[in-house]
Amino acid sequence: MTLVSCTLACNLCGNETAERIGDADRDGQSLQTVLCQSCGLVWTDPRPSSEQTRKFYAEEYRLQYKSTYVPKRKHVYRETLRAIARFQEVRSLLQPKIKMLDVGCGGGFFPYVARTQGFDAQGIEPNQGFAEYASETFDVPTTNAFFQDVDLPEESFDLITLNHVLEHVEDPCATLGQLRKWLKTDGYLVVEVPNIEATYHAPKNRFHVGHLYNFNPVNLEHLGAKAGLAVHASKLVTSENHIHLTFQKRELSNSQNENYTLPGNYQRVSEILKRHTTLRHYVSTVPYTRFVSKQSQYRTERRAVRSDASPREIADALIATHFDAPSRLVA
Ligand SMILES: [Zn+2]
Repeated sequence: MTLVSCTLACNLCGNETAERIGDADRDGQSLQTVLCQSCGLVWTDPRPSSEQTRKFYAEEYRLQYKSTYVPKRKHVYRETLRAIARFQEVRSLLQPKIKMLDVGCGGGFFPYVARTQGFDAQGIEPNQGFAEYASETFDVPTTNAFFQDVDLPEESFDLITLNHVLEHVEDPCATLGQLRKWLKTDGYLVVEVPNIEATYHAPKNRFHVGHLYNFNPVNLEHLGAKAGLAVHASKLVTSENHIHLTFQKRELSNSQNENYTLPGNYQRVSEILKRHTTLRHYVSTVPYTRFVSKQSQYRTERRAVRSDASPREIADALIATHFDAPSRLVA
């Protein structure tokens, strides 16, 4: 085990030393990843240079710098299905006339699905092309900005969703605190992030430069508590074990004085990572069933989108026929 002095204190417990658990990203580029021995939080330390981050976004999010975003039909199909599944998952939280905000809304698929069901939903999206697509294709009210720079009135929303965003931000606790302010009393914040305990990726693909933090359910729940959010429900997404956590706004009572050392959580994360070796990964059925399932998904998409339908027609057809789609969540 190699202990390192961190350049960043642990975002949850404040610890300043941690165990080094990775020295490269999935492309083999130098990237040090550390595991907090007090709470099991995993983060990139030191942070990658701005050149590395830009390279990642230039390659992974090729459209980041383009002002137009025109997804292929199969992507419209895929994103609409995901949005429908996400909508089903929050449906039990929805009351008539509630206000919803999707932070990092991409092309606006999720707020669009919510709006077709009669809800007042809007989005924030930093990418200009995605934000324009959401506004122009789906008529979703979308603010084109980083949410950290957006000044919204406090207590504006009944439900805020944050889908695969928190792992990218520089200060997850501050992010949760900012979103909490925008929530009305008893409002809900639904957060989905990758799970450091998931083993569907080969170990060499575990870390990458775009993800500044890696959570497990326990430390994400406590990060919410630190920001003044109570856990309403905690589930995992089927197949990929992403964490799907529903927080509810609670009073900020002495939360700053709580101790966020989480006994046993470091050992839990450490053992899962050590057990998931490259050999174990490739002798398990996981990579093969995942491959077969992806191929099946791609075939379905190809069959479904052979038409001249516009993006909105593709989305509307799916919305009309998929509203009894099963949830992706397991308790
Ligand atoms: Zn910690």
